[in-house]
Amino acid sequence: MMPYQLTKYKERTGMKQEEYINRAEENLFHVYNRFPVVFDHGQGVYLYDTDGKKYLDAGSGIGVMALGYGDPEYNCILHEQLERLIHSSNLYYTPQLAAASEAVTQVTGMDRVFFTNSGAEAIEGALKTAKKHAYLKNPKAGQKIIAMKHSFHGRTVGALSVTGTEHYRTPFYPLMDGVCYAEFNNLESVKNQLEEGVCAIILETVQGEGGIIPASREFLRGIRRICDERGILMIVDEIQCGMGRSGRMFAYQDYGIRPDILTTAKALGLGLPVGAFCVSQDLAQTSLVPGDHGTTYGGNPLACAAVTASIRLMRQRRIPEHVTALSPYFEAILQGMADRYDFISSYRGIGFMRGLVTTLEPGQVAARALEEGLVILTAGRDVIRMLPPLIFQERDFDELEEKLIRVFDSFR
Ligand SMILES: *Cc1c(COP(=O)(O)O)cnc(C)c1O
Repeated sequence: MMPYQLTKYKERTGMKQEEYINRAEENLFHVYNRFPVVFDHGQGVYLYDTDGKKYLDAGSGIGVMALGYGDPEYNCILHEQLERLIHSSNLYYTPQLAAASEAVTQVTGMDRVFFTNSGAEAIEGALKTAKKHAYLKNPKAGQKIIAMKHSFHGRTVGALSVTGTEHYRTPFYPLMDGVCYAEFNNLESVKNQLEEGVCAIILETVQGEGGIIPASREFLRGIRRICDERGILMIVDEIQCGMGRSGRMFAYQDYGIRPDILTTAKALGLGLPVGAFCVSQDLAQTSLVPGDHGTTYGGNPLACAAVTASIRLMRQRRIPEHVTALSPYFEAILQGMADRYDFISSYRGIGFMRGLVTTLEPGQVAARALEEGLVILTAGRDVIRMLPPLIFQERDFDELEEKLIRVFDSFR
């Protein structure tokens, strides 16, 4: 059920893309270098710009639109909630909060959840939980945190402090104190950073912005062991790799471990801005208490309706199973690219979270792809990143392959 018929923006306003871009750039704080495209609407795995040009989407709005665009069931739930109640604050309960909290604890395998408005805010909550726990154990012991090199946890001051890319942090010192950085997938390097007063280790199960690098089994399990032996908290950030993208609802579930704190966001609300941090029961009882933390919007009924819908729809449609089944098909295409082009050395990642390692400038490739009607992303300095909607079928991968070939041929 659509409440109104979509007409193309151009038909409604007669404006060219360039005019929207100029208008935005005259007013926006220039903190992003955007691609020169103005999106109007989406349907399934396609985006359309205001001129009506069609783009195959292999970016999902940075891993958010996991069920693609315009899903009728999801939209219907949101329309209904929009009419019923959008917001009431965390001073009260709503049925949607009850349902979403239950859905999230079930799907994450964690015991308690706190809803936030973004990924970075989920990281902030995770850090505060770890710090409060350490403080209760011993107020003088210190609250040091080990983070990983090339990690990405968000842009707020706390999240930035544990983000392992130097040039993101440098202009903003002094940041949060007591953070040191270890090599990802190198247990020795983590052990070398262990010292008195370390209260938490934070890492992504699959590094996203850092270049699509999955944690090895040995590494993730090794971190769990170190944390158990020393009473350190393990914070796992699945903001990008969680919610079905890996082929499991949460990627850590494939490693035979459970974190003490798990963060999620991006696809959690399928486009509604919502994140969460989840903790074990033990930790919930020995960390934050009323008065320690809060948020005005977090967990509002509209966001919660979106969360419950996204989890239910992903499970009903067996999305993780679909990702696992089609993952080899995706890989074969990427291997083909590595075989065919000298400037692509390899591919990596898991499920529908993939990177092509290239000597080309990834941003230039993404710009060229837009001209060919294809949306792709970049990661780090040498990776072309693809996070297609999890509803991609074989024919969508075939189209992706055709378009990638056209893009890469133009760089020969
Ligand atoms: C995107 C991302 C974040 C930050 O989320 P925001 O919603 O942009 O604040 C944190 N961690 C990881 C792994 C991410 O991919």
